[in-house]
Amino acid sequence: ESFQGLGLSEAMLQDLVKAGYTAPTPIQMQAIPPALAGRDVIGCAQTGTGKTAAFAIPMIERLAALPKGQPQALVLAPTRELALQILATIDKLGRGRRISATVIMGGADMQAQVRGLRQQPDILVATPGRLLDHMWNGTINLAPIKMLVLDEADRMLDMGFAPQINQILDALPVERQTLLFSATLPADLTRLVQVSVHNAVRVMV
Ligand code: AMP
Repeated sequence: ESFQGLGLSEAMLQDLVKAGYTAPTPIQMQAIPPALAGRDVIGCAQTGTGKTAAFAIPMIERLAALPKGQPQALVLAPTRELALQILATIDKLGRGRRISATVIMGGADMQAQVRGLRQQPDILVATPGRLLDHMWNGTINLAPIKMLVLDEADRMLDMGFAPQINQILDALPVERQTLLFSATLPADLTRLVQVSVHNAVRVMV
């Protein structure tokens, strides 16, 4: 299998070679085509399966086609460690397309994050609590967001982030694409699925 048949641009195919990604992983093979087509996706995959690139690749492709100047995608992650890993993957795969990202997470300087936001990054990678702090302070505007990723959704619920995620969902445009990734699909994820994704393609690996 190769990345050739997935509908990716020549620029992305070249950046994947530069990143050392020679062949798509199963989650990438299944999630990239529907995500590129604008569909919502529920991806059931563990860490180590290549799930980060499974959402970062279509995200970069779709954002590269849009006018710049406002954050158009938001990735929510449960931990600072994961947020930084996601940022690193986006930086690696998006650099050639001049897609920029900034991280909004607890335990880091709020003012430095405000300066990062003023650079008008294309993508925000955030932990839920700190994102809400910025929303309350008026330093973040989610109105232009067209694409949402909920990464490790089961872990975010385990960590008690359901109220924060619901407030963030309320502030996001209803007209958006949502990709939800989770290692498990427990019963308590059902409500989050109902309120966040629509007519989703389900991908299991
Ligand atoms: P993840 O499951 O997103 O945490 O990714 C696990 C690791 O696999 C990361 O170090 C990625 O850089 C790497 N990776 C993801 N997709 C590919 C691919 N298609 N080819 C080679 N390495 C990959």
